[in-house]
Amino acid sequence: METITVRTREHSQLIDITREIQALVSESSMDAGIVNVFVPHTTAGITINESADPSVAHDILAVLDRLVPWRDPKYRHSEGNAAAHVKASLVGSSVRVIVSSGGLKLGTWQGIFFCEFDGPRTRKVHVALQPVDLG
Ligand code: ZN
Repeated sequence: METITVRTREHSQLIDITREIQALVSESSMDAGIVNVFVPHTTAGITINESADPSVAHDILAVLDRLVPWRDPKYRHSEGNAAAHVKASLVGSSVRVIVSSGGLKLGTWQGIFFCEFDGPRTRKVHVALQPVDLG
């Protein structure tokens, strides 16, 4: 298993980490298999979406903000960051991508995004490569 460090700069931010994941795949000897990407945090997550137009990441954050307001008198979590926990669960904490011929089999417009919901912080992303005979 490898671990990537991600330093976030905003309170909420989507950061494209596709290059870092592809670099780990390229450095390994794995030609075919699965790359498992896992975020070990409760106020950050990971998702796959469009990386070509940065407006998409902006819109995703804007909609999550509307769905899950930062302040709500009904929140019970005493740390004050309940919204970040909820957003992290909505996007999830892991993604899996197929690797073939040493490359991530992402769609043309897809990228892998680290999702910060309570930054800025220094975060970790665990990456486990799993060789598979894809036939
Ligand atoms: Zn908390």
